[in-house]
Amino acid sequence: MGIGGFQSLLGYNLMMNVYSERHEAWQRAGLERQPLPVQGPQGPFLQVGGRKMLAFCSNDYLGLANDPRVCAAAEEALRHYGVGAGASALVCGYSAPQADLEERLADWLQQERALVFSSGYLAHLGIMPVLMDQETEVFSDALNHASLIDGIRLARPGRVTVYPHGDMTALEQALRNSTALRRWIVTDGVFSMDGDVAPLQVLASLAERHGAWLLIDDAHGMGVLGPEGRGSVADAGLTGEHILVLGTFGKALGTAGAVLVGARGVMDWLAQRARTHMFSTALPPLLCAATREAVACVRAESFRRARLHHLGLGLQNGLRRAGLPVLPSVTAIHPVLAGDNRRVMALDRGLKEAGLWVAAIRPPAVPEGTARLRISLTALHTMHQVERLVESLRQVWEATS
Ligand SMILES: *Cc1c(COP(=O)(O)O)cnc(C)c1O
Repeated sequence: MGIGGFQSLLGYNLMMNVYSERHEAWQRAGLERQPLPVQGPQGPFLQVGGRKMLAFCSNDYLGLANDPRVCAAAEEALRHYGVGAGASALVCGYSAPQADLEERLADWLQQERALVFSSGYLAHLGIMPVLMDQETEVFSDALNHASLIDGIRLARPGRVTVYPHGDMTALEQALRNSTALRRWIVTDGVFSMDGDVAPLQVLASLAERHGAWLLIDDAHGMGVLGPEGRGSVADAGLTGEHILVLGTFGKALGTAGAVLVGARGVMDWLAQRARTHMFSTALPPLLCAATREAVACVRAESFRRARLHHLGLGLQNGLRRAGLPVLPSVTAIHPVLAGDNRRVMALDRGLKEAGLWVAAIRPPAVPEGTARLRISLTALHTMHQVERLVESLRQVWEATS
């Protein structure tokens, strides 16, 4: 081996040391994640490691991920179209089920055009660089989802102003100070780790007053809130040419993929230029067909939303009576603040021993010192199961404090 080869071998070893040392520090900080392989479909019970766990960690809020009608729609499309879309939508991957799905989504969400992406994350990465440039200032809520943050990073707008979570006074001040040619306000509709709803009416009126456009990520509102489950934006009664809304299929619709809806003028341009639409394989036809069926279920079956709401009230009351620090929520997401990373992991272990699975959320998914149990409900849970969760959590909470 020559000197060059020796040096690069040394370099490789040093690099490996850097990664493993960082990983060890990560583990010491109590941040290691160890995903468990799930051995069956989503539902109130999940089969894990040969055990059946009562689960409150899925985003399948309406219980459609394993719905027989949604599965049948996927099977039928599978037989007709096979598995893969074969190419990106702009080449030859734009399937008839995708065209049909886009039409139905636009109709459901009462918007001029719907554009399907293969995931919500990819949608943000694709659209934001088209919408924002050096002449744009972006105003972003401090608790926005990682995909919005990364979309902004990729877009590299002239200026980014992060306003404190939900702080409309700070936002108004920043808008007033802005000298940018174009302005975008970006926000989650329902915040993914807190379960609260953005003050959308205030945001819309601020946007109008300051000539800003609004991008709302409604991953956790779509299906759950509003008439026909149209989401937080419809629930707040917002309409307008200057509003774009993203919905993801992997949450309440129970499938996978995402949709952006808005006015034709801007949507037509995004369909030409969003790079994750151009350079990523289209959503498989079977997922488009399954999602179409899920949309029909969401629209028709308001009892699922009613049930979710009813269970949510029961959970909130139960946790409060037990003296547990639950954040108020009218959505499917009910966080219980633990604060410390180790504490939340101890709660997680205690609950797992009792046969319960709740998501333990730590930084960087949430700010430092706000580790939490993120309880999510689905329309398939029973009140009895909710009561079991409250009782187990009360016991584990005492045992770990
Ligand atoms: C899940 C989620 C996304 C990403 O959607 P995927 O389709 O899962 O990539 C985006 N925003 C929010 C708020 C989410 O919760």
